[in-house]
Amino acid sequence: LTILGLESSCDDTAAAVVRHCVGESPAILSSVVAGQNDLHAAYGGVVPEIAARAHAEKMDVCVEQALRDADVALGDVDAIAVTAGPGLIGGVLSGVMCAKGLAAGSGLPLIGVNHLAGHALTPRLTDGLTFPYLMLLVSGGHCQFLLVSSADEFTRLGGTIDDAPGEAFDKTARILGLAQPGGPIVEREALNGDEKRFRLPRPLLDRAGCDMSFSGLKTAVLRARDALVAEKGGITVQDRADLCAGFQGSVRDVLAEKSRRALREYMALNPASPAFAVAGGVAANQAIRGALETVSAEFGAQFVAPPLALCTDNAAMIAWAGIERYRAGHADDMSLSARPRWPLDTSSPSMLGSGK
Ligand code: ATP
Ligand code: FE
Repeated sequence: LTILGLESSCDDTAAAVVRHCVGESPAILSSVVAGQNDLHAAYGGVVPEIAARAHAEKMDVCVEQALRDADVALGDVDAIAVTAGPGLIGGVLSGVMCAKGLAAGSGLPLIGVNHLAGHALTPRLTDGLTFPYLMLLVSGGHCQFLLVSSADEFTRLGGTIDDAPGEAFDKTARILGLAQPGGPIVEREALNGDEKRFRLPRPLLDRAGCDMSFSGLKTAVLRARDALVAEKGGITVQDRADLCAGFQGSVRDVLAEKSRRALREYMALNPASPAFAVAGGVAANQAIRGALETVSAEFGAQFVAPPLALCTDNAAMIAWAGIERYRAGHADDMSLSARPRWPLDTSSPSMLGSGK
């Protein structure tokens, strides 16, 4: 089975070809990602209209490139998978329209994929995990624990009730006058910092369940900075490193403890080969990754962190989710619509309003 995948839900235009023959490991024949950082840099965030226009302009080129890199023609492909949500509506629409055009022109089946399902199924593409496994999706826009039971059964065990950790890293960097994206820079600063100097909060740690909150943490960094400025007129390089270390330590501790709770719920199902997978840009953070790996080992679960290029937005995950859906007998037609909101777990009303 060979599937072409298209992704355009945020600020990356991506196309990829993935092939999977039963009994073999799946192969990513190509994966093209065209970012838009340069287009949005001046605005301090993604501008939806600019993103939508760039997707519309670049998707054709990305698709051509993905087919060329994979050395396949559209006629060699079995189906076209496309992110149909959730995300910025203009971008999702660009991808869906492009996929419909390709499907109409070639007569190939069309498969609408949930972007979050793409992230959540990636550990099966990279490491062949078997269901059920536990997944922590932790990025600039998302933070949630998912119990993945099949290609279309996801149970949300909890998630952030406000900011995503990546967003908090980015805001913390801004507060401390550091560049964007803040995550890797805060991590580097933290290496020289003393995380015990500032006692930053560990929000919701005392509350049962797997819900998290990160917005108060960023406010605590702001207050600590303002207190230093009021006291001595500014912050030193050491103050900044200590604040970065304190902030990162808090995020790490909250994610680790909440992972412990999620793992406890998951292990109660007695999975045959227990596994805990992470995805999203924040999973690149060594301190956080290390803590999650340790927690996973406490439960005897295999820890899986796909390569970063497959943890962040890409189309190989969409092609792969398309393969899984196609095998399960799902296909869409020209009535496929773009959905700005599309909760993975339709059983839980608390899903609405948190994350993107
Ligand atoms: P989403 O994919 O959920 O829509 P996104 O595109 O912002 O959101 P990603 O590309 O997965 O998400 O991740 C980017 C985020 O990860 C940014 O907020 C960035 O600061 C954060 N990040 C990247 N590297 C690190 C790191 N080493 N430590 C902490 N955070 C990091
Ligand atoms: Fe994403």
